[in-house]
Amino acid sequence: MTQPNDIRHDWTLKQIQALFDLPFNDLMFQAQTAHRQYHDANAVQISTLLSIKTGACPEDCKYCSQSGHYNTGLEKEKLLEIERVVKEAQAAKEKGASRFCMGAAWRSPREKDMPYVLEMVRQVKSLGMETCMTLGMLDKDQAESLREAGLDYYNHNLDTSPEYYNSIITTRTYQDRLDTLANVREAGMKVCCGGILGMGESRQDRAGLLMQLANLPDHPESVPINMLVKIAGTPLGETDDIDPFEFVRTIAVARIIMPKSYVRLSAGREDMNDQMQSLCYLAGANSIFYGEKLLTTANPEASSDMKLFNRLGIRPLELREEASDEAHEAALQQAIEDQKRSHLFHDAANASTTSSSVN
Ligand code: SF4
Repeated sequence: MTQPNDIRHDWTLKQIQALFDLPFNDLMFQAQTAHRQYHDANAVQISTLLSIKTGACPEDCKYCSQSGHYNTGLEKEKLLEIERVVKEAQAAKEKGASRFCMGAAWRSPREKDMPYVLEMVRQVKSLGMETCMTLGMLDKDQAESLREAGLDYYNHNLDTSPEYYNSIITTRTYQDRLDTLANVREAGMKVCCGGILGMGESRQDRAGLLMQLANLPDHPESVPINMLVKIAGTPLGETDDIDPFEFVRTIAVARIIMPKSYVRLSAGREDMNDQMQSLCYLAGANSIFYGEKLLTTANPEASSDMKLFNRLGIRPLELREEASDEAHEAALQQAIEDQKRSHLFHDAANASTTSSSVN
């Protein structure tokens, strides 16, 4: 019989919508239960993102400041020099980041850019960090060379449901995105794939996006959930805000249906107060982007993240915890044992007597 938090790839839209429709507290409880089954509940993985080539992108993603189709006043930058990228990675490592993500505003990498990109991967990897790139669509050969250079993760988002997708992007298809994800998997890299909320989509579209992600042959190891950053000059610059509770609900549903994945709070954190971010952590978000800029948009100052972590008793997940499956497993088992001993979690899980505190 299927257990509530098994890894599944056969989710129906109806089942996912039923999760969205749960009373908020029930949804949060179910998400926390799933979260604690697979993760240390008080650790958050930290990644840093650097734009290695900014602006003038030929794609027409309606939310993006970097699309060449819209006039957003963004200053364009050519591909950064390798030394600069490595320096930024080193600085990010010193600030506590375990993964360094490099993003280029391309439809797909050109052959002449590949040697530079591959060298960036090699050099950042040699700092002892995990590496991630987002360069647009990849064919099989490009995916293979990136893996050979040592790339750990490739980010390529689905953005929204297949039904809503054409209202957001017309220059590449949903299937193009799925093909890139398949090439990345086939090459043996980990997948970072999520979407953006608050683009005027319906709850059914949010459920549809999560269904696509959860029903991939393997769940993405990283699932970034972005909140639209409204950029003046883009077609979505004046879109209505998403209800913050709906955002938190989406995080919780992602946590339940992809219980092992790292669910990442990504763009849009600048517009979330501490209370909303805390609810996201409670709903199962366990990864953030860290640093003053997220590609081209503002991100909460690193120190304000650390202050919130301290207030919540959250600690950054160290790379060594992630890197070795055995060490990770042991740390996780220990954390789960600790949680079982925690009166509050034990009591809540068994609906028995009350307790006064949890650490
Ligand atoms: S989201 Fe990526 S592909 Fe789309 S316009 Fe922006 S940089 Fe280009």
